[in-house]
Amino acid sequence: MKDTKDKYRIKKEVNAFRCLRCGHEWIPRVELSQLEGELKEKPRICPNCKSAYWDLEPKTKK
Ligand SMILES: [Zn+2]
Repeated sequence: MKDTKDKYRIKKEVNAFRCLRCGHEWIPRVELSQLEGELKEKPRICPNCKSAYWDLEPKTKK
């Protein structure tokens, strides 16, 4: 017997982001068409550490 949830619960691959500063991963709140296709714009800040430079790797000085 299959759970009835299997009828409406599906899995999709969507666009997600990872903050290069804190490592937080999240899915942007945009339309599903954008999540599955091309995102129009990238998030301005990381929702976790609020850094505006989340997409830049931290510079390491030697
Ligand atoms: Zn972050």
